[in-house]
Amino acid sequence: MTCPICKKAPVARYRPFCSKRCADVDLGRWMTGSYAIPVTDEDAFSEDSPHDTPSRERPH
Ligand SMILES: [Zn+2]
Repeated sequence: MTCPICKKAPVARYRPFCSKRCADVDLGRWMTGSYAIPVTDEDAFSEDSPHDTPSRERPH
């Protein structure tokens, strides 16, 4: 079995992923795919700092 994100050998602690990073990537895909983050949406509109909002990929 290999890491579903980068195909490296998995680490027992993060199985089936090879690292926490890959586990986070998978979790992120999962969450953004299932619902649109309503809280950060509001923040993005009220704040003038796009660099610290993770929602830049959101289609306008
Ligand atoms: Zn990986």
